[in-house]
Amino acid sequence: MIGSGRISVATAADISRANTADTGDAAPAAIQALASLGAGGTQLQNQERDLHRWVPNEEATSEQMIPVLLPHEIFHAIAMAGSRQVKTATHKLVAEVISWSMKIALEGIGPAVGFRGEKLVGNRCSWAGKRLADGWHFAYFGFKADAKARKECHFFERSYQCNKICEECLAERSNKHGDPLMLFKNFFDGAAYWMTLLSHSDYVRSSTTPSPWLAMPGFHFKTAFRDPMHTIYLGTAKEMLEDINLRLIAMSLWSLQEALHILDHSGLIALKEDAEVGVCENTQFTVR
Ligand SMILES: [Zn+2]
Repeated sequence: MIGSGRISVATAADISRANTADTGDAAPAAIQALASLGAGGTQLQNQERDLHRWVPNEEATSEQMIPVLLPHEIFHAIAMAGSRQVKTATHKLVAEVISWSMKIALEGIGPAVGFRGEKLVGNRCSWAGKRLADGWHFAYFGFKADAKARKECHFFERSYQCNKICEECLAERSNKHGDPLMLFKNFFDGAAYWMTLLSHSDYVRSSTTPSPWLAMPGFHFKTAFRDPMHTIYLGTAKEMLEDINLRLIAMSLWSLQEALHILDHSGLIALKEDAEVGVCENTQFTVR
């Protein structure tokens, strides 16, 4: 009954002890043996262990590989990688694994082996070579995160934490050694940073540490989107938007359609003369 799971070891031992209390040595040997588990019931926590010790080990057990991170190997890896490399390696690995998986989602056929070429088991094994998701294919569209995550995940060398604040151009915040012509606060057409906008290939060629998400099929550095929640809903832009030309929003951050949508939700009014009317006519949003 224990082997089939119909009764627990503890219950079987309790019943056996009750039996031997009643019948003494007249109880069958198997009942006496069960009653003896856990030092005859005085060490209840040892009952299961004692029972397992009766099981012949030769055939009932087998060697199992259990991955273990040994301290000396972890310390060695950290020391050799340098102070920032563990984080960097983790970001790289995450990007590689997700990119590998998204490539499969795009192709729509289950892989024969895992990310590291390992043998697959269970459901994963049964999907090998078969059409996934009833024929649907899934493609990468974009990456959205807050400013810190954008910078860390993509290894951007220019970010909100630097004097050169933008990965897409060479705009600068005000600083002692900076060039006033490159000031990011200058929104006029004549601002110098407009001349430094990078294309995707410019970005790849000029980056010392290009984004590991380049492994993703369809990745473009401008698909690392900024999150409007952090700039509009929770940020200061909600207060500032009234003074900003809508055309600027449409050009630099979002499509006009998105900008109108955001303004509408922020309780702000977009003026028709600020919008590009030709584009507006194609949107379902009302320009007031
Ligand atoms: Zn820029």
